[in-house]
Amino acid sequence: MTAVITIVNKSPVSRIFTNSFRGAKTFRSITKMSNCIFCKIISGDAPAEIFHQDDKMIIFKDIKPASKHHFLAVPKEHIPNVNSLSKNQIPLINDLIAKSKQVLADKGGNLDDTRLGFHLPPFNSVSHLHLHIISPVSEMSFISSFVFKPNSWWFTSVDQILEKLEKSKL
Ligand SMILES: [Zn+2]
Ligand SMILES: [Zn+2]
Repeated sequence: MTAVITIVNKSPVSRIFTNSFRGAKTFRSITKMSNCIFCKIISGDAPAEIFHQDDKMIIFKDIKPASKHHFLAVPKEHIPNVNSLSKNQIPLINDLIAKSKQVLADKGGNLDDTRLGFHLPPFNSVSHLHLHIISPVSEMSFISSFVFKPNSWWFTSVDQILEKLEKSKL
């Protein structure tokens, strides 16, 4: 795999006018991407504070935490983004959610004050599917609340994405 596109997103607002990445599905691949930072974390070639790991996923701390607890649950398979998902990956998403909640509970986080969701392309800073788990929501800054605003057109809640997948034909 040499053709790797990483959508770098420093300013969500400035990207509003450059939404030209709708074809991201084209880059779906089950292989590891050599210059994907999350694939490197999975292979041990990049550092991360890892909280959980099994054959399907890895959970590690977000490098720019938006609250006291902020981590990412990442499938080991290189799935570019939520638009690359199909109905048969619902169990994988449910596993990411369940394991993330377990890790948060183990760390003493309050599940009732927690946000779980995915960035939507092109607003995903890394083009490897990652579930954000942020808690407590009540301690997030104004800007973080904006960046992780549920069911905005740049961030989708897990409920919304599961509902969409249930309805999809594939
Ligand atoms: Zn990757
Ligand atoms: Zn993200």
